Amino acid sequence: MKTVNHWIGGKTVEGASGNYGPVTDPATGAVTTQVALASPDEVDAAVAAAKDAYATWGTSSLSARTAILFRYRALLDAHRDEIAALITAEHGKVHSDALGEVARGLEIVELACGITTQLKGELSTQVSTRVDVSSIRQSIGVVAGITPFNFPAMVPMWMFPLAIACGNTFVLKPSEKDPSAANLLAELASEAGLPDGVLNVLHGDKVAVDGLLNHPDVSVVSFVGSTPIARYIHATASANGKRVQALGGAKNHMLVLPDADLDAAADAAVSAAYGSAGERCMAISAVVAVASVADDLVARIKDRAEKIKIGPGNDPTSEMGPLITAVHRDKVASYVTGAAAQGADVVLDGTGHTVEGFEDGHWIGLSLLDNVSTDSDAYKDEIFGPVLCVLRVDTYEEGVALMNASPYGNGTAIFTRDGGAARRFQLEIEAGMVGINVPIPVPVGYHSFGGWKDSLFGDHHIYGNDGVHFYTRGKVTTTRWPDPADAPAGVDLGFPS
Ligand code: NAD
Repeated sequence: MKTVNHWIGGKTVEGASGNYGPVTDPATGAVTTQVALASPDEVDAAVAAAKDAYATWGTSSLSARTAILFRYRALLDAHRDEIAALITAEHGKVHSDALGEVARGLEIVELACGITTQLKGELSTQVSTRVDVSSIRQSIGVVAGITPFNFPAMVPMWMFPLAIACGNTFVLKPSEKDPSAANLLAELASEAGLPDGVLNVLHGDKVAVDGLLNHPDVSVVSFVGSTPIARYIHATASANGKRVQALGGAKNHMLVLPDADLDAAADAAVSAAYGSAGERCMAISAVVAVASVADDLVARIKDRAEKIKIGPGNDPTSEMGPLITAVHRDKVASYVTGAAAQGADVVLDGTGHTVEGFEDGHWIGLSLLDNVSTDSDAYKDEIFGPVLCVLRVDTYEEGVALMNASPYGNGTAIFTRDGGAARRFQLEIEAGMVGINVPIPVPVGYHSFGGWKDSLFGDHHIYGNDGVHFYTRGKVTTTRWPDPADAPAGVDLGFPS
């Protein structure tokens, strides 16, 4: 069996705690790998490596940093397939989807290559006689990144490229469910010339996370995962005086108005609800249809969903892979089996699905629930599986009110041909990322990603300008160079104005 160890100080460090977690191939159900789970001592070792490296990396030149990042970008580009294959083997998503994940992560490396522009300061001359004021942004120190299973390469890449480009050093704690991609990302960074200790990968569970949250030498925490853990991370890291951003879970709605192109809306709903088997924080999990077009829309979604081919992620003909674990698959299935009793019409029931030759895989088919009520479990909970709920409303206003009552506010979308309605929606909807005829509005790297309400705890969204701000702190310098001819200012106890 393969063992995934830590990557600390530029080399593989074998796990010393004696604790290992199982990593499963979701398509076969077989345990293929064990991952080392760090002890508090190993947390200390990783943070110490990052702290040591910060002493020189934090003052390295921008040109030295960007030269490494450009080489890193080229290496990642050359290894796209290898990274994607690792993702598929442990997460289960289909290879083309895994390649998409790598591409979206690469965007942030490309953004980091341009850090020279982002880190330019500001200068105001002559704010008073012979007084100038300048603002600069400086690195902070050791950053800890804690990431979820559903994007084992992209979410780490939302964090560390920008953090290290800004001059910080990094300890990544990936999901223990699919840990291998993180090690390859770190090894390639070393190959690109990143000094030892600038990027470390520490594998583990709650013990490792708590060690990082309570470590005095960790200054910044970036977290992406479920809402309950995001809330905990934010509260704990904040109480320990750390800067923290904690991105949480979601229930993303798509509002379909009567004038929408219904074929485009149905295509979008199926792609966004069932892509990656619904294990995306930006998945559309609730379609809110204006009643006059709801029957037609549901029929078109059903027609498309029935044709999706389910199979192992490494089979190029598969469109949807298995779920991450059997336990998660059973939990997802329980929402479908319980839906009818809570008033929903089960249009498609994906429970009990198997794939020939892969009977022990974590399979579930596509489910479509219509007439779902807002007080049902299938609507209230983030199911994180291939289950799409349809809710019906009479008007645009009713739809927006329903959506704004959700505790989550990650992504959202409207499908319409009415520019005025779309503009109103953009202003009225309570979510951090809005799509207009775009179902998964994940912002490009040079904008920032983040939700509202229970989908994000903290003040900064991730990557883009917010990312640069999050990984740096501001300093403002006021300078006076008196002219030798000036009379001495003399003592003045008044507040300077
Ligand atoms: P999770 O919250 O279970 O785990 C995330 C990380 O936290 C992992 O590294 C895990 O080891 C750690 N962790 C888990 N339990 C912990 C505990 N009790 N104490 C300390 N650390 C703990 O999330 P997941 O199941 O890996 O990922 C799926 C979730 O992530 C979904 O809710 C999804 O919406 C969310 N997500 C959000 C975004 C976003 O951008 N908002 C992106 C991707 C995923």
